[in-house]
Formats: sequence, C-alpha cells, structure tokens
Amino acid sequence: MRLRSSATTALAAVIAIAAARPLSGQSVADRYRADANRIIDAALKDSTAWNRLGEMTEKFGNRLSGTPALEQTIDWVIAKMKEDGLQNVRGERVMVPVWVRGTESAQLVSPRVQNMPMLGLGGSIATPPGGITADVFVVSTFTELTQKAAQARGKIVLFDAPFTNYGETVQYRARGAVAAAQVGAVAALVRSVTPFSMRTPHTGGMSYDSTVQRIPTAAITVEDAQMLHRLQDRGERIRVKLTMSARMLPDAPSRNVMGEIVGSEKPDEVVVFGGHIDSWDVGRGAMDDGGGVVVAWEAVKLLHRLGLKPRRTIRVVGWTNEENGGRGGQGYRDAHKADVDKHMLAIESDGGVFKPQGFSFAGSDAAMEIVKQIATLLDRIQAGAIVRGGAGADVGPIVALGVPGLGLNVDGTKYFWYHHTEADTIEKLDAHEMALCVATMAVMAYVVADMPEPLPRATAATR
Ligand SMILES: [Zn+2]
Repeated sequence: MRLRSSATTALAAVIAIAAARPLSGQSVADRYRADANRIIDAALKDSTAWNRLGEMTEKFGNRLSGTPALEQTIDWVIAKMKEDGLQNVRGERVMVPVWVRGTESAQLVSPRVQNMPMLGLGGSIATPPGGITADVFVVSTFTELTQKAAQARGKIVLFDAPFTNYGETVQYRARGAVAAAQVGAVAALVRSVTPFSMRTPHTGGMSYDSTVQRIPTAAITVEDAQMLHRLQDRGERIRVKLTMSARMLPDAPSRNVMGEIVGSEKPDEVVVFGGHIDSWDVGRGAMDDGGGVVVAWEAVKLLHRLGLKPRRTIRVVGWTNEENGGRGGQGYRDAHKADVDKHMLAIESDGGVFKPQGFSFAGSDAAMEIVKQIATLLDRIQAGAIVRGGAGADVGPIVALGVPGLGLNVDGTKYFWYHHTEADTIEKLDAHEMALCVATMAVMAYVVADMPEPLPRATAATR
C-alpha cells in the first residue's frame, strides 16, 4: 500500500458518507436497521449452524486436499445446498497438490527412551526408511542459529520458539527446515505454534527453497520442546530418532463449492463470502475451517428463509486447498477473471467461529467508511468493530485485484489452542456464538448486496 495524503483520505471519507446517504438524508444503517434486526433475531433463535457443522465434520472427518473425504464432503455440500433451495449450486474444478503424511514417529533415545507425540509438517519430505537418528541442537531463534551455526552441523535442529503471535511464531514452522539445512542440519523440529498445550502437536504448512537441500521437518509438543531445551542447558547429550514416510503425489482435481441467492435487480453483481472447505489431516477441521463455510452457508439460508432477496447476488463459497496450496482462492480468481469487477465485496471467516467482534477490512478508505456505518447495525450483539487488516487467504487473490475484502474477527483467545491438531473438533465451539457469527455475516453481506450504490473499490494507489 502506498501512502496517500491525509487531505485525499479526508475527501474520500466525505464522498463515502455522502454516497451512503442518497435517500432523504437517511444513512445506510438507518435504512437497513429493521432488516438487520430481523436477521439477528432469527439467527439467534437458531442452532442449525452448530448442528450442520457437527453433521459435516463427523460424517466425513478431516478433509486434506487430494483425499476422498474432501471430495465426498463437497458432494454432500452440493446436495444439501440444493435441498436448501440455493441457486446455481455447483463445484468449480481446481487442481490441488496432494501430500500424504504416511507413518511417522519421533523418539527420544538419549538420555532416556521416550516416544514424543509429533506431526510431520505439510509438504515435508520423508526420512530414509530407517529414520534419522542424530544429536539434537536446540535454539530459540533464527539469530541464535546463525550465531551458533557450527554447532548445528550434522544434527537435528529444534526451534524452541515461544509463541508471541501467530504471524511471527509461524515463521519457524514455515522456514525452519530451510534455515536448519543452510547450517548443515539433517532434520528440523519445531515447537508447536500455540500459546497453550496439553502435549498436543500442531501441524501446518512449510516450504522449501529450491536452492537449499531439503530435509525432513516435523512439529513436537511445547512440553517436549521445552524439556529438550532444559536437557541441553543442563549439559545432557540429546539424541532423537525421527522417522517419516511423507510424500507428494501428482496434483488431483478438487472443487470450489458454491451456491447463491441470485440478485433481483443486478444479478451479475456479487457479494461473495465463505471459508475454506479443506482442512489438515488431523482432528475434524471444525474450526479450521468447516465453521467458516457453515456460518456463511447458514447466513445465506437464513436470508432465503426470511424472504430477503437482495438487489445483487450473494454467493457462498467453500474454497478448496487453503491449507497446503491456496489453489482454491487462486482458481476462483482465474475462473472469475471476467467478472472480478462485478464483485462488490468478498468476506472470509477463517479464524474460528467463536464470539464475533466485527471485521478487519482491506480496501479503500471510502469503502471502509460505509462498512463502518453498516457495522453499527451489529453493535447490539457487540460485533460492530471494523479495523484495518487482511481479509483472508482465500479471498486474497481477488482483494489484490481491487475487490473490497472483510475478514470475520472473533474472540481469538482459544483458536490457536486447537489449530491444526487432533483436538480441532466441534465440542470447543458454542452454538450461540456460531449463531452470532451467522447473524454478523448475514447482516453485512445482505446490506452490501442490497444497498443501491456499490461499495467504492480500491484503486491501484490504495492497494
Ligand atoms: Zn484456515
């Protein structure tokens, strides 16, 4: 984003407010207050979101790209959306990478023998069939690894990085294997990226660098990472045996799954919202991100049930392959190249469906002013806070082309406790909080789809 003068920003805001008050001085919030209250009241009487997420995640389990479970889930969503009376229900084909975990284990062999719960990182290569047994060298940061590079050669490097925030700490998961290989390590372990642990390992994506030797990489638990660190500090020699059989298979077909309420006056103009239908191959992908798909889907169903037919089309999408490729978001952009300019707004829920707080917004100042006015309709459920920020990985490719983007913000206290683990199951989610997410998504999508004027788009200078 380039800097703009504050005068331009102020002018844009004035224009935005004027644009949002075209009818007899009423603000967009005033005009939609009655509809918004109807939507919220109806959403809060309803616990079908929680029930549907339970049905989906317990019928099919987790949904990694390339698995029959993902494609069966997509078939099921298509059938159910048709039953719900949504229009233009379909899957749009996308080719996705296929990573297979295989069998894997990590065992402490010195100073004593103990199995350590672990999860290979998505995209990792295998160890040789007999595993890798080597001394472990523990560091807390990339800087420490660089400073002590000589001690890492020939060893398994363990990054014991304490959780600060996801964006910062996830760097060790994403780039640890490359950094360790650059100093001659034979494998890389990372402390699971979480602020809280019950000795549960967390998987997630990682990447290699084509110029650096590929080494196998896995996450161990916070407890075991800290223990190995303390053993090292006490001068113990630590040896670990890491065995992994992960492999990449050729790309396979998957689909972005979607359904619509077709607009009554401007059917070619679209508000798109949803989450990603794929998940990691652990747990049941309830909060990451089955919940995101289901709250948008239930929001559309609710509008349909209330007979609220917006001027523009509202499209709910379950994007595929967010977790280990992002091909769904890219494929959506490519399939809709000709009508990206007709996308008024893209909303994603991919931070769990806990108590909603509002949205983070990506786009022009003028559009943000209007979104803030609409969000006041959500103040009665404390979900009206609009802050600047990213909208989401799956809508990112069209937001980059100028489509205004919103990411649902929720109470994030517990999300990373369960994120990418066997514990990502529906019991941690609350039916009432999910209903609040449905209300929040439905009000925002409906008002933007129905208000007479389009949301101002970002120009090249504002994105
Ligand atoms: Zn996600």
